[in-house]
Amino acid sequence: MDLHNTDDAVTRRIKALTDRVSMLKEHDLYFYNQPVEELLDDSKVRVRGRVMGMYASYGYLGLLNHPRINAAAKAAIDKFGTGTNGVRSLAGTLTIHTELEETIANFKHAEAAITYSSGYATNLSVISTLMGRGDYVFSDKLNHASIVDGCLMSGTEFRRFRHNDMEHLEGLLKNAPSDVAKLVIADSVFSMDGDIIDLPKTVELCKTYNAWLMIDEAHSLGVLGEKGTGIEEHFNLYGGIDIKMGTLSKTIPSVGGYVAANKDIITYLRHASRAYIFSAALPPAQAAAANEAFKVILDEPERIVKLNLNTKQFIGGLKSMGFDTMLTETAIVPVLCGDDMTAFAITREAQLNDVFVLPVVSPAVPEGLARLRATVTAAHDPSEIERAMDVIGEAGKKLGIIK
Ligand SMILES: *Cc1c(COP(=O)(O)O)cnc(C)c1O
Repeated sequence: MDLHNTDDAVTRRIKALTDRVSMLKEHDLYFYNQPVEELLDDSKVRVRGRVMGMYASYGYLGLLNHPRINAAAKAAIDKFGTGTNGVRSLAGTLTIHTELEETIANFKHAEAAITYSSGYATNLSVISTLMGRGDYVFSDKLNHASIVDGCLMSGTEFRRFRHNDMEHLEGLLKNAPSDVAKLVIADSVFSMDGDIIDLPKTVELCKTYNAWLMIDEAHSLGVLGEKGTGIEEHFNLYGGIDIKMGTLSKTIPSVGGYVAANKDIITYLRHASRAYIFSAALPPAQAAAANEAFKVILDEPERIVKLNLNTKQFIGGLKSMGFDTMLTETAIVPVLCGDDMTAFAITREAQLNDVFVLPVVSPAVPEGLARLRATVTAAHDPSEIERAMDVIGEAGKKLGIIK
């Protein structure tokens, strides 16, 4: 039944998208929302009845189904049940929430921490609570969508600097009025490219131009630094980041988002950020799982060693076959394909050979820079990685991406 048979802009937008989806499905090139039937660990999945090597996981340290983490979640259900009484400020705060926030604060070398129901909600709410009309935000062009949305929602003057381009950032800071509030914000590890923000220079610029600094550690928590505590450990540079944001849904096998910062910022956010005040608290099992996962990371540093070896093997192997992996230095490995259709085609070839990777196309990345966005984790075995690279290499040759 078609209630809206008019040819207005909404109808046209929906039609353009559904046409594209039908075309891709017809050619067996549609990989959006493929249901995973079973997650065997962070290195294997069952999809359409076949067990495939998993190269699209954010579980960088292979913590999914870790016995200690599962046990903590189960114990929390036995103690608190499966939900909360509502929002944090109205009877929704449990001891497991305050414990988790203390664990995060310690892990991130901060005075305090606050949690939200997702990383997306965290960025949206925190940026729009701290910043407002008349203030200035400076955001890397490749920052995650949740950061962009938070900036737009805040109504600030929104300035975007070229990716990791510190000269451009400095120019924009210089041009802003000296008496306004300023916030510089960037991903630590960029979610589509895998490269790392130049933190030392960013910190220096923030000091010079009196700007606050917020860093999103979605892809560096558990990944950067020998202990896996993130970007500050990686650069051995503590104290320069005012607002340390991260998610509990990637390396940490749970759900939720956090900010770690000084006590006053956290108190302010608890009283002023709307996603905290008006949305339900994290379920006890998820809070307990996250809390235990931070402890496991510190107790099992060998996982980080393994992740680094696997990352080196994967990037080195793909590069030696002639693939362009852009500037990645981390477990997020873009395999540049060019146009969207080539990225879809290599995905199909890989999945037919039981390597589960996914493409990223425009508008998520600029046109012409469509890619496989492959990831490795500590759960992979070097021989499995070797096989996955063989499959990707064969497909790349067949499609003319490499020689
Ligand atoms: C995944 C991601 C988020 C959002 O986190 P969720 O907990 O999944 O909502 C925010 N920022 C970056 C850089 C991310 O990659």
